[in-house]
Amino acid sequence: MNYVSTRGGMAPRAFTEILLEGLAPDGGLVVPHSMARVSLAELEIWRSLGYADLATEIMNKFVGDIDRDQLRLLAHATYNAENFGSDEITPLRELGGGLYLLGLSNGPSLAFKDIAMQWLGRLFEHVLAARDERLTILGATSGDTGSAAEYAMRGRAGVRVFMLSPLGRMSAFQTAQMYSLTDRNIFNIAIEGVFDQAQDIVKELSSDAEFKTSEHLATVNSINWARIVAQVVYYFRGYFLATRSNDEQVSFTVPSGNFGNIYSGHIARLMGLPIDRLVCATNENDVLYEFFTTGQYRMRTAAQTEQTSSPSMDISRASNFERLVFDLFDGDSLRVAQLWDRLALEGSFDLAGTVEFARARDEFGFAAGHSTHAERIETIRRVDAECGLVIDPHTADGITVARPFCRPGVPMIVLETALPAKFSTTIEEALGREAPRPAAFEGIESLPQRFSVLPASAWAVREFIVSQA
Ligand SMILES: *Cc1c(COP(=O)(O)O)cnc(C)c1O
Repeated sequence: MNYVSTRGGMAPRAFTEILLEGLAPDGGLVVPHSMARVSLAELEIWRSLGYADLATEIMNKFVGDIDRDQLRLLAHATYNAENFGSDEITPLRELGGGLYLLGLSNGPSLAFKDIAMQWLGRLFEHVLAARDERLTILGATSGDTGSAAEYAMRGRAGVRVFMLSPLGRMSAFQTAQMYSLTDRNIFNIAIEGVFDQAQDIVKELSSDAEFKTSEHLATVNSINWARIVAQVVYYFRGYFLATRSNDEQVSFTVPSGNFGNIYSGHIARLMGLPIDRLVCATNENDVLYEFFTTGQYRMRTAAQTEQTSSPSMDISRASNFERLVFDLFDGDSLRVAQLWDRLALEGSFDLAGTVEFARARDEFGFAAGHSTHAERIETIRRVDAECGLVIDPHTADGITVARPFCRPGVPMIVLETALPAKFSTTIEEALGREAPRPAAFEGIESLPQRFSVLPASAWAVREFIVSQA
C-alpha cells in the first residue's frame, strides 16, 4: 500500500516511511493511494475472529511493508486482557431503544486513544529497532492525548517522550495519571503558563529544522495515519457484535473533536462494512456540525473556542477533516489545495449546493448533531437512572446526539470515548456523587510524582531536552 498527500505534492511512499512523519511535505495529510476493500467472503471469516486476529487482517491491508507474522505478533502483544481488561477488548452493551454503547476506554489511560496508541508504541519500537534509529516525541497536552501517549511509550526502546502540560491546570486525577509515571524515557514538563503557550513551544521547536533532525523529533497527534488504521478495527468489531449476519446494517454516533475517530468509521465504510449512518456528535464547539448541516466550514479562533465540560472536543478546526474533503472531491488534490489556500486566507469555505457536499450525506452517510452542557448533564442522569451506568461527558454528547437518528431494525452504536473517572467534577454536578474508579486507580493522587517545572520558554524546553540526551 502506498501513500500520497491530499494536496498532491508527495511522491508515493510506503507505510513505514510515513509512520513517523507528521504532515506531508506540502502541508497536506497522507492518505492511501487506493482504498483497501473487504470482500463478502472475507467479511464472513472476519466475523468469527478474536480482536487481535481481526486487527491483523485489517492492518495487513494498509501496511504492506511489515510482514503479516510480525503484524500478528504486534497485534497480540497489544490487544489482550492485560492491556484492555478483558479478551473482548471493546465490549458492546445494549442501552435499550436500539441504542448500544461500544466500550473503548478499558486501556491504561481510560480513553479510546489507548486503542491506537498502545499499538503505535509497539509499532514504533519495532520499526526503530529494524532501522537502528531513535525518536524523541514532543507534545503538549491538556489531558487525554498526553496520558495515552505516555502509557503507550513508557519503557519502549529507542523512544523518549517529552510531554508539556500547563502547571496546575489539569484535574488532580489527570495530573496523577501522567506525573506518577516514573519510567526513565518519560519526561513530564509542567510549563508555567496555559495550554496554548505549551502548544506554541512545541510548534516553535518542531519548526526548527536543525533541532528536529538532531533530536529525531516526532509527534503522535491525531493526524498520524497508523492511529486512523488501528481505529478502523473497532468499527468492524462493533458491527459483528451488534448483528447476526452480514446483510444487516448498523449506524455509529461518534463524539468528535479532530475528526480522527469518525474518519476511521468512514474508512471502514469505504472498505465495504455495511454502515448506514455515521453521525458526528459535537459539543458547543460545533465547527463540524455546521459543516454537515450547511456546507460551510468556518474555522474558529482560540478566543471563539469555548471551554466546555467535554473538553477533549473543544476544537477550533478539525485536523483530519481535510482527508474527508479529499474523498468528497474524489481525490482531486488540486481542488483540495485550492480550498486550503482559501482557508488560510479567509478562514472559511462554503460547499453549500455542490455535488461534493451532497455526497457527504448521500454517498458517505454522514449526519451530525450537537449537545449543550445542560443536555450532557441530563443524559448522564438519564443513563444512570435507566441503565445503572455512569458515562463520561463526551460519551454523553454521543448519546444525546444519537437518539433522534435511531431507526427500527438498525442498531445505533455510540462510541464510548472515555471513562467518567477522568471527569469527576461534571459527574458530581450531574449525579451528586463521585464517578466510579477502576480499582487500579484508587489513591493514584497520593503516588509519588515525577515532573520538571520550566518557564513558558522554547529555549528552556530545548535546553532541557538536549541535557537529557
Ligand atoms: C480525543 C477525544 C475525543 C475526540 O476524538 P477525535 O478523534 O479528535 O474526533 C473525544 N472524546 C474524548 C474523551 C477524547 O479523548
